[in-house]
Amino acid sequence: MSIDVVIIGAGHNGLVCACYLAKAGLKVVMVERRAVVGGAAVTEEFHPGFRNSTASYTVSLLNPKVVRDLRLAEHGLRIVERPFSNFLPLSESDSIRIGGGMEATQREVARFSKKDADRLPAYYERLDAVADVLRDLLLETPPNVGGGVRDLFHAWQAAKRLKTLPMKLRREVLDLFTMSAGDWLDRWFESDPIKAAFGFDSVVGNFASPYTPGSAYVLLHHVFGEVNGKKGIWGHAIGGMGAITQAMRKEAESLGVEIRLGSDVDRILVREDGARGVALADGTEIQSRCVVTNANPRLLLKLLPDSAGEWREPFENIQCESATFRMNVALSELPDFTASPGHQAHHSSGIIMAPTLAFMDRAHSSAREAGWSADPIVEMLIPSTVDDSLAPSDRHVASLFCQHFRYALPGGRNWDAERERAADAVIDQVTRFAPNFRGSILGRRILTPLDLEREFGLVGGDIFHGKLGLNQLFSARPVLGYGDYRMPVRNLYLCGSGAHPGGGVTGVPGHNAAREILRDRGRWRG
Ligand SMILES: Cc1cc2nc3c(=O)[nH]c(=O)nc-3n(C[C@H](O)[C@H](O)[C@H](O)COP(=O)(O)OP(=O)(O)OC[C@H]3O[C@@H](n4cnc5c(N)ncnc54)[C@H](O)[C@@H]3O)c2cc1C
Repeated sequence: MSIDVVIIGAGHNGLVCACYLAKAGLKVVMVERRAVVGGAAVTEEFHPGFRNSTASYTVSLLNPKVVRDLRLAEHGLRIVERPFSNFLPLSESDSIRIGGGMEATQREVARFSKKDADRLPAYYERLDAVADVLRDLLLETPPNVGGGVRDLFHAWQAAKRLKTLPMKLRREVLDLFTMSAGDWLDRWFESDPIKAAFGFDSVVGNFASPYTPGSAYVLLHHVFGEVNGKKGIWGHAIGGMGAITQAMRKEAESLGVEIRLGSDVDRILVREDGARGVALADGTEIQSRCVVTNANPRLLLKLLPDSAGEWREPFENIQCESATFRMNVALSELPDFTASPGHQAHHSSGIIMAPTLAFMDRAHSSAREAGWSADPIVEMLIPSTVDDSLAPSDRHVASLFCQHFRYALPGGRNWDAERERAADAVIDQVTRFAPNFRGSILGRRILTPLDLEREFGLVGGDIFHGKLGLNQLFSARPVLGYGDYRMPVRNLYLCGSGAHPGGGVTGVPGHNAAREILRDRGRWRG
């Protein structure tokens, strides 16, 4: 049977795209460099007997339609909620907990400001109303600037939807898409801990100060998800993030998708009538009717060496640097926080070591000068507290996700020489709040921004396949003129996080790209 579609990369978006295409009756072959499917959403053993999500580590943005259509629950996927969202140790003796219901959060916030506690319900309501606007646009194909009548119609529909919003909400949409998270939060709250708890999301995968204009959007991007029907909540996939992509793999294979692992694509085969297959690094050629790439869009510059054109310059300019550092640690015991001693529910929440927005701002300025801050922003999750499949009994695994570690280090320094020192700084940070932490570490796996690029093909170490800035969103993702999943060469499509609506384990770019590919079926089948 001849191949209709070759997909470069078997990240979660590639898998989602493959499933929809195969369901429509197409013969799909996926070619993946790594030895396992899932891209940045995988679970691997990193120390004998200890497994954990390797890169992405927590779930919320995964689209419910994708979960249903791909029958992920039937393939064994189970997502559990955390008892509450976040725990922030603030000092040796004080901390704040967010989540576990409105009343519990209000009680906690009132310890710092009664006024802030009173404003909380309105804050959540407003953020959710704006997130709804975003949720509405997720499954849409952005209108392509300079496109034809269909794009004009799309643009008109999107504008019409915004026009139905009350003016108050329209202003809020504008502010959240353009302002800094810090300025926006200063409007709502007066106490530092609550601003830090909410503002943290604005610097996750975003090399910026919380006071950098545009950072409020990144905060919003992290709240459009849901877990088990509850909006804005983050949860844990039992078995780690690899459980999501293994469930997707099962669905893909049941639909007849062929997945070839250990297959590194060297270039896309371009004939007179467009993309018609791929050539692997070992010289094998695979012919197909159309080609879809799940990889970072900037990699097209390498994959299309002979395709000249005006598209090359804007693709070279795609901003890719989330400045993130990721580490897994195997633990002999749980960290004992001086501000909240003993083993309690906070061990199952997202533990954020960044007590104020000013602290995050300083980490950003230090990283601008020195490559990374010796006083880094660290989030820690300990998934083994809710999932006994990851570590031996009485032992634990923790995911450490750290912000503001630049891909390019100044002064000719390089990550291979600096990896261990940066990891030690991260461990020191946690040990400041939980003194037994350093001594409890049995093993660690470090991923610097350079490792993320080498291991996962994440250009510049960018976790989202491109910055989530206003110049790289919606019709401008990955670049203006190519916002509708169709790439510069005929019969070539983008289905990864570099396309609308961007990064995160959402499955949405894969879903939307498949729809466009099927719309064009007559064209590329020729
Ligand atoms: C450290 C880290 C932490 C994160 N944390 C979270 C989180 O907690 N929650 C969340 O929702 N999101 C998180 N993210 C973001 C999220 O994981 C990504 O946005 C998402 O997984 C990207 O999925 P994708 O399918 O678009 O691309 P990818 O997962 O990047 O998949 C692309 C695939 O293409 C393959 N490939 C590339 N080039 C070639 C080639 N030439 N030939 C063959 N194959 C190729 C790659 O090997 C890869 O498997 C995180 C990401 C990272 C890196």
